[in-house]
Amino acid sequence: MEFKIIGKDPESNARAGELETVRGTIKTPVFMPVATRAAIRALSFRDLEEIGFDIILSNTYHLYIRPGTALLKEIGGLHKFINFEKPLLTDSGGFQVFSLSDLCKVFDNGVEFRSHLDGSKHFFTPEKVLDIQKIIGSDIMMVLDQCTEYPVNEDKAGEAVERTLNWASLSVEYWKDRFDLNKQSLFAIVQGGVYPRLRKECAQRLVELDFPGYAIGGLSVGEPKGMYMDITEFTAQHLPPDKPRYMMGVGSPLEILFAVKNGIDMFDCVMPTRIARNGTLYTSEGRVNIKSSGYERDFSSLDEKCCCYVCRNYTRSYLRHLYKMGEIASMIYLTYHNLFFMKNFMNEIHDGILSGNFRKVYKKWENVY
Ligand SMILES: [Zn+2]
Repeated sequence: MEFKIIGKDPESNARAGELETVRGTIKTPVFMPVATRAAIRALSFRDLEEIGFDIILSNTYHLYIRPGTALLKEIGGLHKFINFEKPLLTDSGGFQVFSLSDLCKVFDNGVEFRSHLDGSKHFFTPEKVLDIQKIIGSDIMMVLDQCTEYPVNEDKAGEAVERTLNWASLSVEYWKDRFDLNKQSLFAIVQGGVYPRLRKECAQRLVELDFPGYAIGGLSVGEPKGMYMDITEFTAQHLPPDKPRYMMGVGSPLEILFAVKNGIDMFDCVMPTRIARNGTLYTSEGRVNIKSSGYERDFSSLDEKCCCYVCRNYTRSYLRHLYKMGEIASMIYLTYHNLFFMKNFMNEIHDGILSGNFRKVYKKWENVY
């Protein structure tokens, strides 16, 4: 994997780049749609190709539980299973283990948990989650980290940072020993809650381990907005400028813009697809709640400025009707539009940085959202 910065905004830390992987080049800043269980809810991978996404994200924990590594090994990885040949990033499963599974117990060498599905007992070590991601065939793998919830006290956050650092160190050695480094890249994750001292220490010690890329984890987990902004700005400063930076689980237009301004290159979030299924759409004029009775006889398109097939063909009135009826088509159309919006939003940011207009793009969306 190679990361090239092809343009910088003169007034901020925003940068436009190209992340080259064996399976293709990814234009950054990039938004990665989330195919949690090997599928984007309500969309086909053909839809994703049509929208033009360069990379998707899937979840190690979910794939490990179902369909399981034996099946994925048999077919030759997730790309084959879903018949999608573009780059794939998988998280390490850490976040899901800590947030979803029952009876999760942390040890120095890993984490024991019970499946949220059938209660069966499992143990993830830093090495094991890499073995799983090897079978999945992820182009970008993430290290096992210990996530903390919000709020968490500084001592507890500090313990999680120590464990995260220890696991990162084991992971990078294991990766260098046993992987094709060009085919499967490995990113570290900076933890440290809302404590600048811990974030700085975690970032600096991870940078010493020399990973191909760095993620910021444990943000947008319920902390106040000001805190999200302070920690993002502060943490990004401690990451090497020539490596890709990934903000995990963040995906509202304004959060993305703010992070891009501070030098973040990659994003993933379930929010655009989740809110679409609940009838909330991103448009060029702000959020639209299609449930609203005001749209009953609104025969204009969802977003006049959007050229996705939903906006070109269907009225707000019809989309509201589909939603009210609980039609599957409603989920399909609304999800398609929101992901189309995200892709174009990221293109506008990328192009804005390259043409020296990032500030203009920022201001425009700040006024809308
Ligand atoms: Zn549209």
